[in-house]
Amino acid sequence: MTFRKNTIITIDGPSGAGKSTIAKLLASAAGYTYIDSGAIYRGIAYAYKIRKDGESLEELLHNLPLGFEFGENTRVSLSGKDISEEIRKPDVSLLASSLSQQVPVREYANAVQRELAAGRDSVLEGRDTGSVVFPDADIKFYLDARPDERANRRYTELASKGQGQQFDTVRQEMEKRDAN
Ligand code: C5P
Repeated sequence: MTFRKNTIITIDGPSGAGKSTIAKLLASAAGYTYIDSGAIYRGIAYAYKIRKDGESLEELLHNLPLGFEFGENTRVSLSGKDISEEIRKPDVSLLASSLSQQVPVREYANAVQRELAAGRDSVLEGRDTGSVVFPDADIKFYLDARPDERANRRYTELASKGQGQQFDTVRQEMEKRDAN
């Protein structure tokens, strides 16, 4: 029997550059698991939003019952309840962005990514995937696009989900997330 190490491909870059579109296509073409790291940050943000009164971020992360299923569309659950729709709402996006600056949150999300990719050929998408989470990844991409194009992609995506916002609002929120 020959042992073969699993292959890790990372796609890093700012929001709206098309990382998830490319990651899904690549994973599907290669027969790899697509791991959407943003869904982890969003799951943490949703859990934080509905946390018990007085519960600290550290306490929340200590035993956080998040579950992930990585198919073409990532399904996320909290204590077994599907929260895949809730984590895509604009308030959770903003909360995910601000919480993602906290070191314990990044450490938690990084550990989850390593655990999920263990032993699987994976395409990981999101900030820090190639630089911090898997510095020894087999193939690393950095995807970027002009700010207007990125805001336009995000605006179209939200509109298609019935969460329409003004273009200027989308652009301002994107700039805020970039700064974060
Ligand atoms: O990619 P997505 O928009 O789902 O990610 C939600 C937020 O989580 C991002 O705006 C970003 O602030 C944070 N994030 C991150 N590092 C990642 C993935 C997401 O900081 N690898």
